[in-house]
Amino acid sequence: MKPAFSRISPVNINGHSTNRLMIVLKTKGCEYALNNNGGCSVCGFTNNAIPNISEKQIISQLTYALKKHDLQQVEEIDLLTLGSFFNDNEISSALRRNLLEIIAELDFIKRVSFESRAEYITTEKLLECRKILSNKIVELGIGLESADNYIRNSIINKNLSEEDFYNVMVKLKETGYDLLVYLLIKPPSLTEKQAIDDAIKSVKYVFEKASKINLKVRYALEPVFICGNTKLEDLYLNSKYKPANLWSILEVIKNVKQYGEIFVGMSDESLSLGRMTFSCDKCYDNMINEIENFNKTNNLNGIKALECDCKMEYQKQLEKGLI
Ligand code: SF4
Ligand SMILES: [Zn+2]
Repeated sequence: MKPAFSRISPVNINGHSTNRLMIVLKTKGCEYALNNNGGCSVCGFTNNAIPNISEKQIISQLTYALKKHDLQQVEEIDLLTLGSFFNDNEISSALRRNLLEIIAELDFIKRVSFESRAEYITTEKLLECRKILSNKIVELGIGLESADNYIRNSIINKNLSEEDFYNVMVKLKETGYDLLVYLLIKPPSLTEKQAIDDAIKSVKYVFEKASKINLKVRYALEPVFICGNTKLEDLYLNSKYKPANLWSILEVIKNVKQYGEIFVGMSDESLSLGRMTFSCDKCYDNMINEIENFNKTNNLNGIKALECDCKMEYQKQLEKGLI
C-alpha cells in the first residue's frame, strides 16, 4: 500500500549536509482529533485516515516507500503517522516494534524521528523504541506549536500544558532521545508581525527550557498551510486568514538561527491544494530553493542574499499591520 505521502528533501545532521526521507503512514487517524471536535484547528491529517486499516497494510506502506525512493544519499527517516506513534490505540506496541525493526536494519540511516502527543509518552515506550534503534540518533517530535498558552490551547486547540511539555523533555533526556519540536509560523488570529514574534519567542522558550536539562533540540518551523475540512479552511474561505509571506519565514529563520539546529518544513504533505506560504512569481522558486538549501547547510548566507521587488511592498504592509 502507498503511504499518504513520502518525499526526500535536504537536511542537516549535526553539521553534516545530507537528505531525509519523510514518510506519512496512513493509519486509523488521530484519536485526539476524533474525541475533540476535529482536534487541532490547523491539522488536516484526519482527511487521510482509514479507520479499519490493518497492521499489515501499515507496514507495507513503509516497505513501499523504502523501495520507491532512491536512498543512496539518505541518512534520516522521519516516520510520521496521522496521529501519535505512541498511542497504542493508533499504533500497537507490536506494530511500533515491527516498523522500527525495519528501519534499524538500514545501517546508512543515522537519525530517525517519530511523533506523539505528550499524553501517550511513557518511559517504557521510549526505552523500548530506543533499544531497537540503539545504533541511531532518535528524535521524538512534539507539536508544541507555540510557547504562548493562549495561542496553543485556545486558538490551535492543542490541549498541551507547559508542565506536560516540560515533563516530556525530562523523559527524553533520561532515555537518550533528542527533541524535535514543531513550531507553527502564523497560527490563525495572528497578524504577520505577531506571527513572526510568536515563532521567535517560541524557539527561545524551548531553547531555555532544554538548556536547563542539557537536552538536544532541533527546531522544526512549520509555516501553516490550509488543509481541507479544518477550522482554518473556514477562516481562509471567509477571508479571515492568509498563510504567512515567505519574507516573514526568512525573518524568523534569521532571528532563531543562534539557538541551534533549525529545519523549515516546506512540504504540505499534499494537503494544502497550493494554499501555503507564498511570495511573488518572480522570487518564489528562489526563496524555496534557498530555504531548502538552508535546511541542508544551516548557513544563512543564501537567505540573507535574497532580494526582490515584492519585499518593499511586503514591508510596507507589515509595518502598517495590513497583513
Ligand atoms: S496536530 Fe497532531 S494532535 Fe493535533 S489533530 Fe493533528 S495529528 Fe492530532
Ligand atoms: Zn518577489
